[in-house]
Amino acid sequence: MAVLRSLAAVGAVPGLWWGAARAAAGLRGRCPRRGYAADSAQSAPTFGFLLDIDGVLVRGHRVIPAALEAFRRLVNSHGQLRVPVVFVTNAGNILQQSKAQELSALLGFKVEPDQVILSHSPMKLFSQYHNKRMLVSGQGPLVENARVLGFENVVTVDELRMAFPVLDMVDLQRRPKTTPLLRNDFPAIEGVLLLGEPIRWETSLQLIMDVLLSNGNPGTGLATAPYPHLPVLASNMDLLWMAEARMPRFGHGTFLLCLETIYRKMTGKELRYEGLMGKPSVLTYQYAEDLIRQQAERRGWVAPIRKLYAIGDNPMSDVYGANLFHKYLQMVKHDGAEKQGAGGLWRQRPSATQSCASILVCTGVYNPKGPEPTQPVQGAEEAPFHGHRDFSFSPGLMEASHIVNDVNEAVQLVFHKEGWIL
Ligand SMILES: [Mg+2]
Repeated sequence: MAVLRSLAAVGAVPGLWWGAARAAAGLRGRCPRRGYAADSAQSAPTFGFLLDIDGVLVRGHRVIPAALEAFRRLVNSHGQLRVPVVFVTNAGNILQQSKAQELSALLGFKVEPDQVILSHSPMKLFSQYHNKRMLVSGQGPLVENARVLGFENVVTVDELRMAFPVLDMVDLQRRPKTTPLLRNDFPAIEGVLLLGEPIRWETSLQLIMDVLLSNGNPGTGLATAPYPHLPVLASNMDLLWMAEARMPRFGHGTFLLCLETIYRKMTGKELRYEGLMGKPSVLTYQYAEDLIRQQAERRGWVAPIRKLYAIGDNPMSDVYGANLFHKYLQMVKHDGAEKQGAGGLWRQRPSATQSCASILVCTGVYNPKGPEPTQPVQGAEEAPFHGHRDFSFSPGLMEASHIVNDVNEAVQLVFHKEGWIL
């Protein structure tokens, strides 16, 4: 039941969105084949890889040597991948194109932008909001990222703050020195995009709340907050992440926790997400599965991709996510193409994928020698659950199908299991 609850909550996947969403994102049609390119000595692959980046392929700005070894196995003598591969990261404050360039330089072969899945990439599927006026929160190439995702009409928190200077009052230095004229020509905001952790949390928390409580008109204010509130799409729910410091740092999940807590405290109701994506959300894995299938079709590999192998270093996002997606695949297989859950009705698109195995590596967050500060300790009764509110704690989902030292061992393991030449 815990799993079903998790699936139902996987991000408040709204019913029947998938078909239309795929079409909008150009994912519906089968890609034209460009001739056979599989190794002559190797049959077409029936499996694909979902590779995490940080802690699996790179640490900081340095490539992990095992990743170079792994790609020597994954790439054929023509410099082409022997199996479909996508890179799935919870990073979001960067452009897909830049991430692909960064990976190409580190790994020594051309990584295409459509092989990279950032935490917010599945927002491309939410086309029903693409022409809405959306408030966007995060940092880095924020507006450009929103545009790449398909959102044509976005307002940043800073722009909103400039339009309504009396809203942002925490920092005394930023308070207006004179009383500004109240504006009534600012078009209403119709939804909120949370792409990643912003810089001034107090400003973003205040203004996002203002937008939600005023139904998109923060200049007017409302006596009664509308509910359900405006649609909110969010990505990257990681509570913590590891940087150079010895202790974990706040991730976007901590920001979401603040926003959810404030909303609940102020309204007595739960903040609801129209979509919650990034690992471990099933949305992200569905999106990855589609890109894997597209990639295989482009390469002319006629055999359907039946197995996915997700390699990561974080039990809470990589292992939990892969296992949750595997459960989802099993449930769809046994219970039919449609499922009614607490979160509504979801429809599974046609898919040949039968399984998704989780492979945990020891080159990043996961420490095989002791408890990891960002993770609940398996078996410990009082261990805190660092997952998101909408994902129930299920210890079984944190257990990897396989634990290996590094990504090179992971690739060897998969090739061995699939009967492939190493
Ligand atoms: Mg990682």
